[in-house]
Amino acid sequence: MSLLSVRGLTKRFGDLTAVDGANFDVEDGEFVSILGPSGSGKSTILRMVAGFETPTEGEIVLAGENIVGTPPFERDINMVFQNLALFPHLTVAENIQYGLKQRGVQKDERERRTEEMLEMVRLPGYGPRDPSELSGGEQQRVALARALVNEPALVLFDEPLSSLDRKLRQHMQTELQRIQAETGITFLYVTHDQEVALSVSDRLVVLNDGLVEQVDSVEALYESPQSQFVADFIGDVN
Ligand code: ADP
Ligand code: MG
Repeated sequence: MSLLSVRGLTKRFGDLTAVDGANFDVEDGEFVSILGPSGSGKSTILRMVAGFETPTEGEIVLAGENIVGTPPFERDINMVFQNLALFPHLTVAENIQYGLKQRGVQKDERERRTEEMLEMVRLPGYGPRDPSELSGGEQQRVALARALVNEPALVLFDEPLSSLDRKLRQHMQTELQRIQAETGITFLYVTHDQEVALSVSDRLVVLNDGLVEQVDSVEALYESPQSQFVADFIGDVN
């Protein structure tokens, strides 16, 4: 059984079909990217999986259970947003612990797990700092620590590196891969950037104008693209 199964997932906004009958699976421990041009429906898919948007049709099955209708915070899923959204009035440690506190995890356990996560994202000792004292890349790491600390089944990323400069972006790509491998947590990652998607993912879901064009490994997409769109889009790495 796949960790995540998306079946016939459709979202209409009035006359516009943003996502049109999407089907794909994500296996436990995989790093899967949804790749497509701007406006192709990537964020809408992710927001439906997270529970911030209700599907018009279709099923989202997580660990065997259809979670359409389950409130976002009852899903075993965390999301890392494009604009980091750290709480500015809380320290780094308080930001990371926020969700654990809501879930009633005891203070010493919260602090142990926070320290462990700060080590994981290579920011040991940063707990007492204010987010405003950190660089963009460091804030990105804190957002990641916050998403991983309660060990969700699935972490969703919506273009998390798009605001970083090229060098930092490449470094964070490598870091994301390392952290995914070390934690074994399943990542579903949205990007319009072929270079990022092809370098970090086990498999890709290629999206074009709301339609899933192909779901395959990086090698298979290169070697046997199943449409002209996939061939052009995958080939367009600059
Ligand atoms: P992507 O993330 O791939 O850039 P989106 O999922 O954000 O694409 O958007 C897909 C399409 O749905 C776009 O045409 C967008 O304008 C439209 N759309 C997204 N959200 C809404 C909304 N809340 N209301 C109306 N149209 C929307
Ligand atoms: Mg988007």
